[in-house]
Amino acid sequence: MIRRRGTLFVVSAPSGAGKTTLCREMRLRLHDLAYSVSVTTRAPRSGEIDGSDFRFVHEREFRAMLDGGEMAEWATVHGNLYGTPAAPLEAALRDGRDVLLDIDTQGAAQLRVRYPEAVLVFIVAPSMAELEQRLRERRSDRESEIGRRLQRAREEIALWRRYDYLIVNRDVKEAMEQLESIIQAERCRVARLALNFPDLEVPN
Ligand code: 5GP
Repeated sequence: MIRRRGTLFVVSAPSGAGKTTLCREMRLRLHDLAYSVSVTTRAPRSGEIDGSDFRFVHEREFRAMLDGGEMAEWATVHGNLYGTPAAPLEAALRDGRDVLLDIDTQGAAQLRVRYPEAVLVFIVAPSMAELEQRLRERRSDRESEIGRRLQRAREEIALWRRYDYLIVNRDVKEAMEQLESIIQAERCRVARLALNFPDLEVPN
């Protein structure tokens, strides 16, 4: 009876804020959320599957996709190129499926212009000290890399007012509940609902 176009949820966060875990868990919890596979020029990490985690391409191929207007947004992050292919994203939204994108602040800004109705969510760690500790606990980054990520985190956090929602990730369970509440509330917004039947009477 009621039909709506899909909603685009864009989640950004500095590395160490817990965004990857939240997005992964949210996809397990909300099965109907579509997920976009980004294209990147960075090398696959161990365990990552091409076509599932990312589409790993050579820079030449990435630039050809850009020139062909195939990307909805793109950015350089830590020296590598990342982009969201436009066609699958458009198809999902047209079919009324909600899409969750895990992308950086530069890409989020581009999508805000392209899809003004997108919902932008920013996730932060409770403090810079906590963020630093989480980055150190990963043990995957060298000292110079940790410094670089912290500096970039400061620059990204300065942009938080451009987002619609801010989640302070003190506790994964609580942060998950907040993200799910945002998604569920946005799904109910009257402004997003297109009535198939103009004379539909909603009971009061
Ligand atoms: P990683 O390489 O560590 O998986 O991701 C590095 C950063 O790139 C993360 O902040 C992630 O959100 C961002 N990222 C991943 N895919 C895309 C994308 O398609 N576009 C943009 N702009 N950023 C992306």
